[in-house]
Amino acid sequence: MPDIIRLLPDALANQIAAGEVVQRPASVVKELLENSIDAGSNKIQLIIKDAGKALIQVVDNGKGMSDTDARLSFERHATSKISSTEDLFAIRTFGFRGEALASIAAVAQVEMKTRRADDEVGTLIRIEGSEIKAQEPVNTPVGTSFSVKNLFFNVPARRNFLKSNPVEMRHILDEFHRAALAYPSIGFTLFQNDMEIFNMPSEKLSRRIISLFGQNYKEQLITCQEETDQLKIHGYIGKPENAKRTRGDQYFFVNNRFIKNNYLHHAVVHAFDNLLPDDSFPFYVLFIEIDPKHIDVNVHPTKTEIKFDDEKTIYAIIRAAVKKALATHNIAPSLDFEQ
Ligand code: ADP
Ligand code: MG
Repeated sequence: MPDIIRLLPDALANQIAAGEVVQRPASVVKELLENSIDAGSNKIQLIIKDAGKALIQVVDNGKGMSDTDARLSFERHATSKISSTEDLFAIRTFGFRGEALASIAAVAQVEMKTRRADDEVGTLIRIEGSEIKAQEPVNTPVGTSFSVKNLFFNVPARRNFLKSNPVEMRHILDEFHRAALAYPSIGFTLFQNDMEIFNMPSEKLSRRIISLFGQNYKEQLITCQEETDQLKIHGYIGKPENAKRTRGDQYFFVNNRFIKNNYLHHAVVHAFDNLLPDDSFPFYVLFIEIDPKHIDVNVHPTKTEIKFDDEKTIYAIIRAAVKKALATHNIAPSLDFEQ
């Protein structure tokens, strides 16, 4: 009997991996925004057409890539962000798996233009379904422009599975909000079908919240701050009377990475106690800074779930911090909001 096991061709392996990383247009938006942030950009533009089904483009002014790196960036497990196992336990960047670009290029038509400040000309790469169609020099500004057309053009089952434009756009906006909140010092622009939806300069967190959610948030924010041996917390909570009946505007960032964590969410809600009307959710944007060795972000490919080595203590600290913020607000409500 002949042996029957073989290594999958790269294109097929990439397409399989893409199933995990790229679920919908918003997943592409997340990966590209994170790459632009990791590249040290201070201006990032997101351009969306047809809820990302026709076009997702991210233009940044970050550090760009050499022509060799531009080519390598599409290989699976190709990354500039870690090089050893120790690095894996001290992650400071969003990326480190080196899977996103390979996955995206496996299931879409991609065009990337990139240039470093020291290079006179940049590099253009066109790649479709993992197949390189062109690589050539190009005149382009410093930074990287990454455009993703016709997502899932070669995976009809996935393409058909996409939801309506309003639903897909909602997911994209969620990712945009998360990135824009995590990095208020970065200027963000969003175009949707050629209309400018957001154009936000570099600003403070309180201003960024208002830019994203509207002027009426100005009177709603209470400063929240706490520092212990294990961690630092800073950010804002919304006043209890402004709590909404729908979930959504609750944001935890751990070392600037947005995370979903019901247990910690409960810590905040618990701190509000009977101040909250029944069945309503407080607004919060809370940043937790913690030594990366106490967390594991390598739990899930999208990294929105992370593991803490001591979740109970973190729960207690968050709850105390929110309680303290609410108490201070009751004594001196006008001092809460720093301009
Ligand atoms: P990861 O982010 O996990 O390293 P990616 O597939 O997202 O993996 O990207 C691969 C590599 O391509 C990155 O490590 C980085 O060196 C480079 N890269 C990707 N996007 C950009 C960008 N916008 N600007 C500069 N370099 C980038
Ligand atoms: Mg990445």
